[in-house]
Amino acid sequence: MPVDVIIVGAGPAGIACAVQLKHQGVNFVLLESKRIGGLLVNANLVENMPLLPPLSGAEAVGLLKEKLKDLEIKVTYSTVTSIEKSGNVFNVTHSSGRLSARYVVIATGTVPKRIESFEVSPKVVYEPLELFSVSEKKIAIAGSGEAAFDSALSLSKSNRVTLFTKHSEFHISPHLHSRVAKNEKIVIMHSNPIKRVCEKGDKLLIMAGSFKDCYDNLLISIGRKANRRLLSPELLNDKRIFLAGDVKHGKLGQVAIALGNGIEVAQNIVSYLRNKT
Ligand SMILES: Cc1cc2nc3c(=O)[nH]c(=O)nc-3n(C[C@H](O)[C@H](O)[C@H](O)COP(=O)(O)OP(=O)(O)OC[C@H]3O[C@@H](n4cnc5c(N)ncnc54)[C@H](O)[C@@H]3O)c2cc1C
Repeated sequence: MPVDVIIVGAGPAGIACAVQLKHQGVNFVLLESKRIGGLLVNANLVENMPLLPPLSGAEAVGLLKEKLKDLEIKVTYSTVTSIEKSGNVFNVTHSSGRLSARYVVIATGTVPKRIESFEVSPKVVYEPLELFSVSEKKIAIAGSGEAAFDSALSLSKSNRVTLFTKHSEFHISPHLHSRVAKNEKIVIMHSNPIKRVCEKGDKLLIMAGSFKDCYDNLLISIGRKANRRLLSPELLNDKRIFLAGDVKHGKLGQVAIALGNGIEVAQNIVSYLRNKT
């Protein structure tokens, strides 16, 4: 028997959708490949949610987990590998089985833009989370956007950080910029992007213009793009497939928008189900 809805991804968008469907009495399965809360755990300080005080990403994920627990919403840990349409249902194959549903919500977020030539060792990462347990180290960050600056603040709590930026002007909030500029453990290398990375002993040798120095880790934070690998052009245009959160906008967005999108998609599905379309 198909379920009404399969939600792919338990980040903020997928969770908001699940919570709303639960309130509306719709049956669904919520599938997640890695961790509840998605990218949000990486955030240093989430200050832009009007109904909540400023929270760390980890605290915000804690609230999402509590909500799932209170409403007895189960998360199935499994990676969706393909979606195929057959008549009026979608067959969803995931790493531990196969399910079918009348509607599918894609809340798969984003994937990082990569620089493959810099991926010389496991010391090169794409999410600050992977370095949260590191201390007393020298960390280089490649990037000029909000996520790169936000990550510099998180990682500077126990490390020294150098930000290598492509531009001298940044499209980030003045508040975030001034917090980074005032932080004595963060150095900004303006308009000096990293050109080459290689291993030197147990360190990474980083070269940018005429500058070279050794670092313990490199975080690449040069942007993200929509994670739409499950969607063929036909599925993308199918009115029973819904996109919610960052995957919809095609880039790293804001958690409040992802939450709102998840709720909106759930409400649309509820009205389709009531009208039996
Ligand atoms: C460093 C940093 C700081 C940030 N700071 C802020 C901030 O201060 N304020 C703010 O509003 N936003 C902030 N954000 C952005 C915010 O985290 C994202 O906008 C939000 O997490 C998007 O939610 P989402 O549910 O759309 O996607 P995601 O959080 O990316 O979740 C997608 C989920 O889908 C899962 N998934 C993907 N593919 C599959 C598959 N095939 N099968 C099963 N599961 C799958 C992933 O594992 C993931 O858990 C920050 C982001 C970063 C990186």
